[in-house]
Amino acid sequence: MAISDPFANSVKQVNDACGILGIKDKGLMEYLAIPNRVMRVKIPVRMDDGSIRVFIGFRSQHNNDRGPYKGGIRYFDPEGGVEYMEREVMALSSWMTWKCAIVDIPMGGGKGGIFVNPKTEKISAGELERLTRGFAYQISEIIGPQKDIPAPDVYTTGREMTQIMDTYGKLHGNTYAPGVITGKPIPMGGSLARDVATGLGTAYTVREAADEIGLELKGATVALQGFGNASTFSGVYLEEMGAEVVAVSDSKGDVLLPSGTKVAKVIKHKQKNGTVVGFPGSKKITTEELLTAECDVLVPGALENQITAQIARNMKCQIVAEAANGPTLPAADPIIYRRKIMMIPGILANAGGVCISYLEWVQNNMGYYWTFDEVAKKMEAQITKGFRDGYHLSIKHKVDMRRATMVLAVQRVVEAFEHKGIWP
Ligand code: NAD
Repeated sequence: MAISDPFANSVKQVNDACGILGIKDKGLMEYLAIPNRVMRVKIPVRMDDGSIRVFIGFRSQHNNDRGPYKGGIRYFDPEGGVEYMEREVMALSSWMTWKCAIVDIPMGGGKGGIFVNPKTEKISAGELERLTRGFAYQISEIIGPQKDIPAPDVYTTGREMTQIMDTYGKLHGNTYAPGVITGKPIPMGGSLARDVATGLGTAYTVREAADEIGLELKGATVALQGFGNASTFSGVYLEEMGAEVVAVSDSKGDVLLPSGTKVAKVIKHKQKNGTVVGFPGSKKITTEELLTAECDVLVPGALENQITAQIARNMKCQIVAEAANGPTLPAADPIIYRRKIMMIPGILANAGGVCISYLEWVQNNMGYYWTFDEVAKKMEAQITKGFRDGYHLSIKHKVDMRRATMVLAVQRVVEAFEHKGIWP
């Protein structure tokens, strides 16, 4: 199967939004679509057996008209190889620009990574640290607390973030610079609520959507695809808002839960058995049955490309909240819109993570730290405003929320660009 070009998809989305906004200037469209800079680096690493291995890494800086670049660093080896990864990182950096603009945080879009898979390759902790520090050294001139602030992404954690922060600090005359990176462990300047941020943010967007369509969340039913970080916390917080989780899944299978099940009980079962399958009183179903289950809210929170046109035709929910990135195929979107199902696109539904990354950076810069509730409240304000602004545009332009949020984002970046102009 031919692999589609993710960067070409990101360009198309920008062009579509420009079309809705009536922007016809080809130069401006190109300006909005193409990253400002893509850095490709060679990272030589002395391996434990004394040999040298050369890795390839990237940092794509898409747009900084609204603030410093922001976005993750992933360690991954996509099927398409190094060249594909470069295109993917470029596309992901573009999506970060739009995501930050939707929730109106003063940051731009960046993304980076190294072509390596620490899960499937045998790499020791020492080799991984030398690789991380080598990469940090290579990109140290273009990152910085006021320039570009990376974060964890696929197969990177707080450990790599700490190593990047430490390397950056050493290269800058032993500066303490926690604001150069987010997603750090709490003792290294991390923020409270970062661990639950994505699911909590998803729950806030569902609450806003429910309010808009007149769905009472108290007693509403929720199906979760996946039972990892994003999906589980979506369930935890939707339950706190009065909803009931009626179906869940993970890589081992999908189940319908017995009536009245509490999410905490499913978490305990998964911790003990490694899966949600086999939860007492549950009924095993297929993935298609989970996605088309009788429920008010569907949270696809695990994988890409799950909601096909066929699923969209049979879905019974009133709201889809994309906790995962890219769970819906483009062919499904018009069907969902026609069926008047409220779609909250991932670029908004899972933006709680980047909101709290931003709040981590703010706390680092002022050297003063907020409580969990203070951080959560600030994120709530950002993401609910993003929802309201996007919803308003979806009504104004008569388009679905996916296109409306892109329109909102492009409009905000264009506004900043027009203030700034071109120099020299
Ligand atoms: P995670 O690794 O914590 O969880 C992934 C879950 O998906 C696991 O429960 C796994 O069992 C499940 N899964 C795997 N294969 C499955 C299958 N075939 N059917 C059903 N479930 C399956 O990952 P995560 O951080 O929760 O990320 C999930 C999605 O959310 C990704 O698309 C990610 O990009 C997106 N996201 C996450 C965050 C975040 O802060 N964690 C932020 C933004 C977006």
